[in-house]
Amino acid sequence: MTKKIAIYGKGGIGKSTIVANIAASYSQEYNVLVIGCDPKADTTRTLYGSRIPTVLSVLKENKEPRTEEVVYHGYNNISCVESGGPEPGVGCAGRGVIVAMNLLERLGVFKEPFDVIIYDVLGDVVCGGFAVPLREEFADEVYIVTSGEYMSLYAANNIAKGIKKLNSKLGGIICNCKGIKDEAQIVESFAEKIGSRVIGVIPRSELVPESEIEAMTVIEKFPDSKQAMVYHELARRIYENKDFTVPEPLTTDEFEGFFKELKNMGFLEF
Ligand code: ADP
Ligand code: SF4
Ligand code: MG
Repeated sequence: MTKKIAIYGKGGIGKSTIVANIAASYSQEYNVLVIGCDPKADTTRTLYGSRIPTVLSVLKENKEPRTEEVVYHGYNNISCVESGGPEPGVGCAGRGVIVAMNLLERLGVFKEPFDVIIYDVLGDVVCGGFAVPLREEFADEVYIVTSGEYMSLYAANNIAKGIKKLNSKLGGIICNCKGIKDEAQIVESFAEKIGSRVIGVIPRSELVPESEIEAMTVIEKFPDSKQAMVYHELARRIYENKDFTVPEPLTTDEFEGFFKELKNMGFLEF
């Protein structure tokens, strides 16, 4: 059975870093496919060592590309795909995901014996396009990345609304720390509010940008570091996870109330 995971979260929250590092972890044992579904198209950069051409850009030149024009092999032979996006200001951002998924299906990529498939999906807009990995059941389980910041939790709550609408399975919340006070507890209380739980807490680490500069994952660049162990542990927890829920997202008023409550509890003191 292939484990099919989608990682959603606000732009810049740390999705690609997490996806690339858990993919690197799985690659030590498993056959892995990573599909970047963010118009930023940089999920696989640290796995491949540079940016790969996106499905949308390849299709512009050639309507019927071969598999090797869209699937690239990176670190430990991880298969890497980037859906890509439109020119800024023109066209539909979600189209890349739809087009990429259709092409990969036509090329038979999903028939290959992958043990793990990971989708990295932008969750600022949970529109039809970005919901494709869930709506079409390409992914079976979802994880939301958030920090303890208002906007990031706001996006997480919106993603939970999308997950509920599609009756998908939420496997947990990943707290990627920005360094605010009581951050893990804030994210934990949010997870609890929506009927989920925190499956991993990733501390901030200088090793992340240091690896990123060299287009490597932390696992490749600093394999013996504590931060690498954190990603290995998250990968293991996700792989073994059997605890899924359809989330109960907060209404806008409940969300505002949640933040007021945090303040009353002495959190969010700056
Ligand atoms: P996203 O894919 O959600 O847009 P990225 O994974 O590209 O986010 O991360 C955004 C920025 O935050 C990157 O420059 C990355 O180096 C940095 N970053 C992510 N996680 C951490 C962390 N745990 N510690 C330090 N920097 C991080
Ligand atoms: Fe594209 Fe999403 Fe906009 Fe629809 S809502 S046009 S899928 S970006
Ligand atoms: Mg990204």
